[in-house]
Amino acid sequence: MTQAKIELFEGDITTLKVDAIVNAANESLLGGGGVDGAIHRVAGPDLLVECRGLGGCVTGDAKITGGYHLPARHVIHTVGPIWRGGENNEAELLESCYRSCFVLVREYDLKTIAFPAISTGVYGFPKQGAAKIAVREIEKALADNPALERVILVCFNAETKEAYREALGDWVSSSA
Ligand code: ADP
Repeated sequence: MTQAKIELFEGDITTLKVDAIVNAANESLLGGGGVDGAIHRVAGPDLLVECRGLGGCVTGDAKITGGYHLPARHVIHTVGPIWRGGENNEAELLESCYRSCFVLVREYDLKTIAFPAISTGVYGFPKQGAAKIAVREIEKALADNPALERVILVCFNAETKEAYREALGDWVSSSA
């Protein structure tokens, strides 16, 4: 049962000791607000140095770095779509973010990963739709990769938690 490996966590993603936390970055990969700012603050300046060498990241893609002073070993930086009404490939691009992250999960043999609700902050993607896409892609990845042990969905606010609960149905286990 793949859903048994999905967990909700209410709080700050930078506190999680997992193989990788995902950053909802922008195309420059040079830092920003929201979860991006929080990750860079805790990781320290060496993360920015490594990010400078990556040459940015296109929307829907993902790149991996070290975690530096974070408890997490790695950061996977992905760039979610900016919501422009829903007719501009936003859903496909958000799907692509999750898929790109899971390609790196396999490549680096990661067993535990935590996601923020990509694109649902400043980028404005509706939370319920984003939660459905996240859950669908995570379930696929868990089914395809038995080595993946745990996927944590980080809920930074009550609406995000509600959206994930709805997308997951009754099966969710919660550490919150
Ligand atoms: P985006 O630009 O992709 O919308 P944001 O960082 O603005 O990225 O928001 C993405 C999600 O991350 C939002 O749900 C926001 O509430 C959440 N968030 C912000 N800070 C943190 C944090 N420290 N830990 C986990 N989630 C966070």
